[in-house]
Amino acid sequence: MNASSPKVWLKPGREKSLRRKHPWVFSGAIERVEGAPASGATVDVITNDGDFLARAAYSPTSQIRARVWTFRPDESIDAAWFRERLARAIGSRRKLGMLDAGSACRLVFSESDGLPGLVVDRYGDYLVCQFLAAGTELWRAAIVECLQALCAPRGIFERSEGGARHKEGFKSERRLLAGEAPPGEIEIETHGVRYLVDLAGGQKTGAYLDQQSNRKRVAAYAADAEVLDAFAYTGGFAFASLRSGAARAMLIDSSAEALQLAERDGARNGFVDRCAFVVANVFDELRTLKQAGTQFDLVVLDPPKFVHSADQIPAGSRGYKDINMLGLQLVRSGGVLATFSCSGHVDAALFQKIVAGAAVDAGRAAQIIERLSQPADHPVATEFPEADYLKGLILRVH
Ligand code: SAH
Repeated sequence: MNASSPKVWLKPGREKSLRRKHPWVFSGAIERVEGAPASGATVDVITNDGDFLARAAYSPTSQIRARVWTFRPDESIDAAWFRERLARAIGSRRKLGMLDAGSACRLVFSESDGLPGLVVDRYGDYLVCQFLAAGTELWRAAIVECLQALCAPRGIFERSEGGARHKEGFKSERRLLAGEAPPGEIEIETHGVRYLVDLAGGQKTGAYLDQQSNRKRVAAYAADAEVLDAFAYTGGFAFASLRSGAARAMLIDSSAEALQLAERDGARNGFVDRCAFVVANVFDELRTLKQAGTQFDLVVLDPPKFVHSADQIPAGSRGYKDINMLGLQLVRSGGVLATFSCSGHVDAALFQKIVAGAAVDAGRAAQIIERLSQPADHPVATEFPEADYLKGLILRVH
């Protein structure tokens, strides 16, 4: 233990989760803070008896008051330490064969890669970073330098946005950090489909990388199908399906910009004649389609996060039930529904229960034929189940 480092002393008995290697220290578990740590500074987390538990980044504003870098007393947190952690994360994607030129993947997934508050997505020659907590905010320059050394990207762009960052007391940042600014659109290839991605202006870091492998799984049911891609964004599920022999696809999204990009992707991949692009609220549009008696062989529902905190579970569950009921009603008998939830607070068991309720209300018999989750570049560290957020069901609907 370093005698001079600031210390976070826990209340008696509040060390249990840290002993299980969970990386968060909540403000309520803290008895006192010694040494006036600055935002993001490295602190030693100490039991009430004075035993070393972890070395962590101090977040003065967040309820998550400290995020653990390491549980080892012999590791000091410096640029060399970041380089090692980053190299490990990037190396594991390399072993998975996810670093091919022109492809995209998540290189660093925050707590699951031992780097709480850091997300790094790779789109071809460019990296997009999110610094989401005080610790990564403080170490930004060192992290950027390590990423340059490890990946030699053409440019590194920052998209530090969203609720988590605001809880840490930081404003959103969208800017170039190193190298060349990415062009307005860059091209990425996933499973034989070419997509245009707007790294600076698109949603999230430009694309929904967590669905790349699931699009291929869903597309296995697409031969000759009429497909409905609801919450399409730039049409990942629709185009994977058309590539696998779907007859036609309808893409629905509330974002006109997303569908404009989808339309251009459709043209570039030779699919546009078989696509319909509908800018609309999915809840309304599914009702309209139902009233018109329109049916599909494959319906994909990939909504945004409905549940952001535990108190939103009841309302969010009703939202999931509503769209799933409508989605099920639009599936032709013998067809398939692929339905997702990216709300971590809705676990797989609850999601299955919601979909089961939706099938009853829709008056349809549905069988689960596949269960989907998040891909290998979005790993779940066993001590951090909160990282496990994406779930999907593929159902045969009669
Ligand atoms: N399926 C996409 C990702 C979808 S993300 C893919 O594979 O890339 C969720 C999408 O839902 C976003 O594009 C967002 O614009 C859209 N969205 C959110 N609320 C909506 C609503 N009520 N109606 C229609 N689209 C909505």
